[in-house]
Amino acid sequence: MLDDFKVNQKVVYQMLKNAGAKRQFSHAYLIDANHYPRKLEFAMALAKFILCENHYSNPDNCVNCTQCKRIDDGNFTELKIISPDGAWIKKEQLEELQKQFSTKAIESSYKIYIINEAEKMNSSASNSILKFLEEPEPGIIAILITDNMYQLLDTIISRCQVISLAKVSVETEKRNQLTTIEKLAFFFSKTGEEYQEFIQDEGKKEQIEYVMKMIQEIEKNKERSILKENKYWTSIFNDKEKLEFALQIMLLFYKDAVQEKIGLSLEFMDDYQEFLKTLAEQNTTQQLCKKMELIMELRKRIKININQNLLIDQLILSFVEV
Ligand SMILES: [Zn+2]
Repeated sequence: MLDDFKVNQKVVYQMLKNAGAKRQFSHAYLIDANHYPRKLEFAMALAKFILCENHYSNPDNCVNCTQCKRIDDGNFTELKIISPDGAWIKKEQLEELQKQFSTKAIESSYKIYIINEAEKMNSSASNSILKFLEEPEPGIIAILITDNMYQLLDTIISRCQVISLAKVSVETEKRNQLTTIEKLAFFFSKTGEEYQEFIQDEGKKEQIEYVMKMIQEIEKNKERSILKENKYWTSIFNDKEKLEFALQIMLLFYKDAVQEKIGLSLEFMDDYQEFLKTLAEQNTTQQLCKKMELIMELRKRIKININQNLLIDQLILSFVEV
């Protein structure tokens, strides 16, 4: 669904979301794909976003939506995908499409056609699609995808709303699709085995949740009275290894709070974005950086053997004072 592109295609995602909220769709979109590896998937997500009513209200409702399932299976009559037949997209393919789309949509308020690799339309195909674009039938929406926008006729480009996708490499794309725990597992592991162990370690997940709770507590209570919580946290992070891990997680968390604050994508803590937003609102960038410094300072102290009771005290007190 379109929400899958929230992080990697932030700008166009927001633009389309706004259009969806107002139900104001363009009659033709041209996806200037910039060699984005998931361009077709993006176009499909856009089509679903327009076709499936659930996407406007609550995309989560769509999990078992039969309509979207049929779209995925290629059985939805109001959506057609055209790809090159051999080296070119031919006029006959588009004529066939126009014939199929000459009747009104039954299954949805819209009919959508996607033209993949639109730059491969030969000249008669281009002219045929141009006519279709010039006299837009109500309810028909075109989505053209291309990596080479300027190989298309100017007259085609000018009739479409251009959606320029951000350049995202396959690696970044893959990384961004990982969950927080998977990203952390990568970060903390040296081998594939360690990675698997980390992922399967329920204790680690629990520790991370505790760290979140601790941050919430410390951030919420700006007074020294929270020192009484100390015993509780000492009992949770009850050995050096756990405390070291907790501080590392905290550090990554505050790092992402800074990312959030300055509007960059999160490195690790995507699963906690809402909380990070609050944190970014409540702290200035300087405060967040100061807190990171304090955490790093404390991490050094663990190594020189200071008791963890004291360390947690120091952590809580110094945070209150930032
Ligand atoms: Zn749906």
